[in-house]
Amino acid sequence: MNIASLTIDRIRRGLLAKEFSAAELAAEALRFAEAENPRTNAYLRLAPDRAMAGARRVDERIARGEEPGPLAGVPVAVKDVILTKGITTTCGSKLLEHYVPPYDATAVERLEAAGGIVVGKTNCDEFAMGSSNENSAFGPVRNPVAPDRVPGGSSGGSAAVVAQGTAVVSLGSDTGGSIRQPASFCGVVGVTPTYGRVSRFGLTAFASSLDHIGPFARNVKDAATLLGAIAGRDGRDSTSAGAPVPDYPALLDGSAKGLKLGLPREYLKDLTSETGDLIARGVDTLKHLGCEVREISLPHTDYAIACYYIIATAEASSNLARYDGVRYTFRSANSETLADMYRNTRGEGFGAECKRRIMLGTYVLSAGYYDAYYLQAQKVRALVARDFAAAFTGVDAIVAPVSPYPAFKLGEKVNDPLAMYLSDIFTITGSLAGIPCMSVPCGNTAEGLPVGLQILTGHFAETTMFRLADAFERTQRRPCV
Ligand code: GLN
Repeated sequence: MNIASLTIDRIRRGLLAKEFSAAELAAEALRFAEAENPRTNAYLRLAPDRAMAGARRVDERIARGEEPGPLAGVPVAVKDVILTKGITTTCGSKLLEHYVPPYDATAVERLEAAGGIVVGKTNCDEFAMGSSNENSAFGPVRNPVAPDRVPGGSSGGSAAVVAQGTAVVSLGSDTGGSIRQPASFCGVVGVTPTYGRVSRFGLTAFASSLDHIGPFARNVKDAATLLGAIAGRDGRDSTSAGAPVPDYPALLDGSAKGLKLGLPREYLKDLTSETGDLIARGVDTLKHLGCEVREISLPHTDYAIACYYIIATAEASSNLARYDGVRYTFRSANSETLADMYRNTRGEGFGAECKRRIMLGTYVLSAGYYDAYYLQAQKVRALVARDFAAAFTGVDAIVAPVSPYPAFKLGEKVNDPLAMYLSDIFTITGSLAGIPCMSVPCGNTAEGLPVGLQILTGHFAETTMFRLADAFERTQRRPCV
């Protein structure tokens, strides 16, 4: 059984034909993950007991002749910012090194109800802050495609396990690009759904108005299936949307004919030449598929990074206030007073990037600066969202690069936070607008580094996004079957 080549459809066929059981598949996935992990550090921990118990439940359902669910027996990895009852969830932080959640995130609950098997928790930047996975307190992840390079971040581990083949699909989180950028760097599909499409209950808060849970997969159909299983209204997240969840995978017919696509001119100027060439080739392919491509303008793009790093840090400074050494696990040992205990706990527990953001966020929210920075950023956010709304009156989808360049070397940008922030330029805009956006592989550089094409659509138009990505994917390579 070759886990690395399995798809959701193939697993279903294998289970129903009794070629293998869910328990055999789970045991093999765990064995493979354990053997491969030293090469990438992508898993922070495996969950053998939970995986085997889940697999036995699937096998029992099949034996009783019941429908085993759309994710039956599928090995799924979960980013370590998403809570799993009874399984340590660290958020990539020393502060939560020993934190064992008392409940499951809604997305985890739903994927298990659909028959999915949680095989382990994946490494990530601390509290999902970063673009390279180098901000994890538990060491960086190596890109399985090029081990001297980063896998992207912050969901680097979730992208790497799918690229490496130790999980068939995985969950990540995206606040400003953390699903699309690692998907692009590792050569897999990564989807950020509409804000509110997937419940955030049990997703550790970074910047609540921007946080999303979304899937990684090796093909578009698997990503669509996983999203369908976890999406929908949840009474425990008041921002989750009640809009009905379409049967995404059933709507993929390989056709993109007649779709009107916009190519934002602001996104094409700062690309490395190889990335630019691959994106241009991708756009030509879409034209051959019968799409009508026209240039559009998203005029507020240049202000998006500044706007995001004010809003995201402001929300983070407030959300991260809860890690005070009282209610959660880590507490600094040597403190005389309560104030010292807070100071030492946070001083010793948080890494440099979190501290930088807490300070920045506290500053932009403080009296006298609130109007100048935070309020101004909120207005700019509305303008960025308006750019997209205006564009979608004339086009069905927008196509764009995901990142200005492919995966960079480990250590290359880690000491230059500003350069790291600037690399988010093409993903942050979609996050600010709360629209669905995804990365689909569109070829490799001469060195063999993957490059992703980004597709963005209007709110809740995931179906159009998936149909376009699926039609494109069919021209790139034969998706695994
Ligand atoms: N790279 C961005 C940041 O550091 C995005 C992170 C994310 O989407 N979680 O904030």
